[in-house]
Amino acid sequence: MTNNGHSTAKMCSPLWAMVGQNKCWKCGRIENVVALVTEEFWREIRGEIDPYGSGGFGVLSNITQLPDEILMLLQKLNPLFQKRFSKTVEAEYYANGCSCGALFGDFYLHDEPGHTFFPQSDEEASAIKLYQLPIQGEWPIACSSSNGPGEFIFERGTRCAWI
Ligand SMILES: [Zn+2]
Repeated sequence: MTNNGHSTAKMCSPLWAMVGQNKCWKCGRIENVVALVTEEFWREIRGEIDPYGSGGFGVLSNITQLPDEILMLLQKLNPLFQKRFSKTVEAEYYANGCSCGALFGDFYLHDEPGHTFFPQSDEEASAIKLYQLPIQGEWPIACSSSNGPGEFIFERGTRCAWI
C-alpha cells in the first residue's frame, strides 16, 4: 500500500463514497461509517502538479478541509460524519462516530487489517457499499490518501444507486 502524507491535494470527479459498518468500541452499537474515494487524483506541490503523485485510485482519510457540497453528500450517507477532535492525533478532522458520542478514528477504520475499510476477504469487501457522488468538479481537499485496499474495495464492493 502506498500511503501519502497529509497535504492539500486537488481532487476531481468522479468522486465516490464507501459505506461500511463498525461496532462501537464504547457502547457496542453498530453504526454506518463513510469514507471519500477518488478514482483519479493528483497532488499539487507548491502550486505545481506533482507528476509522481498522479493517477490511480485513492482512499482519503484524516480530512481536515472539505468543501461543504461534498460534506453534505457524505452526511446524507452518514449524518455522524462530522468534524471531530481526536485525542489520539490531537487534531480536528472529519471523522465517523457513534450516536453515543464516541469517535471512530480513521487509523482504526482504514489502517488496521480486517477493520471496515481494510477488508481481508471478498466477503468483507463486498459488504462495503459504493456510491458515486452526484457532483462534478475539482476541489482542493486537505487529507491523507492511500491506494492499497481501495483497489480491492472498488473491485469487490457493492455498487449502489445514489440515495
Ligand atoms: Zn457508541
